[in-house]
Amino acid sequence: MGFVCTAARFRTEPVCVKIHWQSGCKLDKRYALSSWSGMKGQCTNIIQKRDVMGNSLSCFKAYDIRGRVPGVLNAPLARALGRAVVEILGAKSVVIGRDARLSGPELRDALALGLHEAGAQVTDIGMCGTEEIYYAAANQPFGAGVMITGSHNPADENGFKLVRGGAIPISGDSGLFALRDRVEAILAESGETAGSLDVSPLQHASFRADYVAWLLEYSGAGQLAPVAGRKPLKIVGDAGNGCAGLVLNDLMAALPFEFVCRQMQPDGTFPDGVPNPLLPERRAATAAAVRESGADMGVAWDGDFDRCFFYDADGNFIEGYYCIGLLAQELLRRVPGGKVVHDTRVYWNTREVVQAAGGQPVMGKTGHAFMKERMRAEDAVYGGEMSAHHYFRDFAYCDSGMLPWLLVASLLHRTGKPLAALVAERMAAYPCSGEINRRVQDAPALMRQVRDRYAPSALHEDSMDGVNLEFTDWRFNLRMSNTEPLLRLNVESRGNSVLMEEKTAEILRFLDEQGGAVPA
Ligand SMILES: [Zn+2]
Repeated sequence: MGFVCTAARFRTEPVCVKIHWQSGCKLDKRYALSSWSGMKGQCTNIIQKRDVMGNSLSCFKAYDIRGRVPGVLNAPLARALGRAVVEILGAKSVVIGRDARLSGPELRDALALGLHEAGAQVTDIGMCGTEEIYYAAANQPFGAGVMITGSHNPADENGFKLVRGGAIPISGDSGLFALRDRVEAILAESGETAGSLDVSPLQHASFRADYVAWLLEYSGAGQLAPVAGRKPLKIVGDAGNGCAGLVLNDLMAALPFEFVCRQMQPDGTFPDGVPNPLLPERRAATAAAVRESGADMGVAWDGDFDRCFFYDADGNFIEGYYCIGLLAQELLRRVPGGKVVHDTRVYWNTREVVQAAGGQPVMGKTGHAFMKERMRAEDAVYGGEMSAHHYFRDFAYCDSGMLPWLLVASLLHRTGKPLAALVAERMAAYPCSGEINRRVQDAPALMRQVRDRYAPSALHEDSMDGVNLEFTDWRFNLRMSNTEPLLRLNVESRGNSVLMEEKTAEILRFLDEQGGAVPA
């Protein structure tokens, strides 16, 4: 091992979380050693430091569990989570899956062992996307589903996304924090170490064929025939070495489109970089592939493909905001008069498009659990967040990264119009800033200052998801990050991109002057 016990240098609250010190682990600064065995230089007892919120397991976020492996997420935690899922959710049978990350198999084994120990039958669907767990939980009699995924984060991170039976989300208020407290207690009681893990009985299954068939049928893409005299739609698909390639391979055979594929092979080392299509270098690579191949559109997915991102034929990135309008139109064509839920950040375009298509727009709180809850309450046919999360009533109100592009590609195929033409008018009608993040010292105080400055001249104010202020020709939303000291700003205007840019710069300047904000 070769490191010196540094217990005396750390001051932590005495939360006894015993975690076996495995070969190759690096000391995570969020942990401190509580005892030193002196035997073979192994430290077997680690006290976990509480975070600023007083929570010892800070990997439990508002909607999921995330962290570095093995410092934050590791086998003992996964095993305890498995036991807690059965105890707290009462699940008798649980479906699990994982993304391409190298830490996936170890976390799966530990999770499965915990589930099994607590009395649940475990079904593993192997490497997959998060929505394949949703599909399984929605269509099979599972009491819960757990996806092991680090989504768009770097290779050394991982996480867990959980749903109840019927693919109903579990977030902080609806069980995730109860799970956290139980995991904490189990870890404190058990003294189990990673070294004592056995392989638990696992049942293997695959629902992919059914899921792919459903995607093709629901999107209508499976019934499309080639159009005489027109070249097939050419699509760049960039899977970024995440799991999207697994499903794309099965879809391609059934579609009348031509594909140019990038990084289709799942590879948890992510040799071409972090599986986050929003990173500038990733955007540039997808855009270049679209231009070089002369494609009609490009689609890129994150590591667990619950989000997809669009490019037009010139390689221009299409903001998620305008994709919501496109998809809302498509869904309302099928369900006339339906309701569409949108988030609070930017929505003027969505509301106008939905109303023009005879639908009813409904504002919902940002975040997948809130969106799904609101959609259920309203029986909404579709919900869209500008962050590229698209939710569908007929997909158990869950988000999918496959259905949106199949619907958009079908629309291009049917109309023969380029993607740029379909969104250009809407982009000009409601230009938006895109989400801009600022790292700040005191986010609540700055929010108040911004509100106090702009509210007196506003026509309308709403406090859902932060500060929402609306004026004659522009509006903005300023909100705090759930997990970081960040403020997130979104500005839009009515057909005036100069005004939108001016107001964006003005608010950012105000933040910088008041609170020493720095770009994040
Ligand atoms: Zn994701």
